Amino acid sequence: MKVRASSAPSALRILVVGAGVAGLSLARGLLRDGHDVTVFERRPQLQPGGGAVTIWSNGATVLGQLGVDMAGVGQSLSEVQVTTSTGRPLATLDLTAMTRGLGAPVRMVPRRVLLERLLDDFPVERIRCNARAVGVSATHGAARVDFADGSSVSGDVLIGADGLHSRVRELSDSPPAEPTGWSSWQGLVSLADVVADKRVALMMVGRHGNLGLWPAGGCELQWWFDLPWSPDFVRPPSPIDMIRRQFAGWSTPVDRVLAALTDDDLAGSPYPHFRHRSPGAGRGVLTLIGDASHTMPPTMAQGTNQALLDTMVLCKVLGDLRPAPSPDDLARALRRYENTRRRKVAAVSRVTALQLSHSELVLRPASFIPDRLHTWGLTMFLRWVSHHRMSAEISRGLGPIDVSRTAGQTTDHGH
Ligand SMILES: Cc1cc2nc3c(=O)[nH]c(=O)nc-3n(C[C@H](O)[C@H](O)[C@H](O)COP(=O)(O)OP(=O)(O)OC[C@H]3O[C@@H](n4cnc5c(N)ncnc54)[C@H](O)[C@@H]3O)c2cc1C
Repeated sequence: MKVRASSAPSALRILVVGAGVAGLSLARGLLRDGHDVTVFERRPQLQPGGGAVTIWSNGATVLGQLGVDMAGVGQSLSEVQVTTSTGRPLATLDLTAMTRGLGAPVRMVPRRVLLERLLDDFPVERIRCNARAVGVSATHGAARVDFADGSSVSGDVLIGADGLHSRVRELSDSPPAEPTGWSSWQGLVSLADVVADKRVALMMVGRHGNLGLWPAGGCELQWWFDLPWSPDFVRPPSPIDMIRRQFAGWSTPVDRVLAALTDDDLAGSPYPHFRHRSPGAGRGVLTLIGDASHTMPPTMAQGTNQALLDTMVLCKVLGDLRPAPSPDDLARALRRYENTRRRKVAAVSRVTALQLSHSELVLRPASFIPDRLHTWGLTMFLRWVSHHRMSAEISRGLGPIDVSRTAGQTTDHGH
């Protein structure tokens, strides 16, 4: 699907602040729909950073609708195994069954690769870097963004897609995200043959912390170690020694990863977990998407997927408008987007706030629940929070989507 560089005469002038997954996916969808979109990014270049993100079936479906080619990208997963720190099985999620139920695969994708794919065929002249938004206004019928260099732009609609500590959110009076008391030390390591099966992701839950080893394509492995955190946290002289003290001996793959990591690998960590208690509300012709609207802890790895669902719903409500809508029509459409998303996002966010770390005694009951019930429960939950009916209708309207482009199950690296 080619993303349009020029816009229709009746196009809306849409200003998007932030060129992360939320901003770029939304811009892709709105350009596809013929709108006049500009994305403003504070960084000097689009240098995608970070580790890997999990694209669940709900996010994969939206990427398919946006024509993003995910063939051969990252690593598709067949199972998540959850155990205690001593290796006692707690649950195994069958992602192959989930893929069958929800119609799209689950995969780990390095964030840089996802952003590269979102930028495929994207008219880059639509992105303005070095544009840090410092002021916004969305008065009746007109949106305006002021930048740190003194320049400003105006448009018909303003979308804040500027992430966790969103300036647009702050200026629209929605309360900021709060720390949850936990943090992740995380990154990608290139290490061959650490895990026996690259389609299997591992999570281990201990009394004082949790960890994950999730294959992300080729030799890349996403690792994370979650530990309590508070604002007065003092970084130890050698963080890797601290991590080894907490997690050494949990399993052979964990020990191999711990042996390979150095303090340099932990330089960007820890990443404190934050959560917005409720999704941000917009005003007039302004609204928020992605982490700017609903930052949540990474417990369910849903952040990227929820940003993609925002994109789907927001494109849909704007697509349903009649040509040349009045400012009131526009404001009503944006409120409809916020109302459609609110309950679903709040439900996901509440689940991510549940505390994982517990003693084995408390966790033991989870191991008595049959695995197929765990899988069924998560599949039903994801189906409910993903606007399943709207999504199916959109996919149908777009015509046949080449599933091999989104699924890529036979072409993954590292098989
Ligand atoms: C560098 C980085 C690394 C990450 N690594 C991981 C990871 O390893 N695993 C994971 O699960 N999630 C990671 N995330 C978070 C994940 O990308 C998001 O949770 C999810 O994709 C939703 O994305 P978003 O677009 O809403 O927010 P973000 O991905 O945070 O994007 C927000 C964008 O807005 C820009 N911006 C912020 N303020 C302004 C401003 N005032 N003016 C203009 N632009 C502004 C930022 O520079 C950024 O490009 C990372 C995010 C970033 C920014």
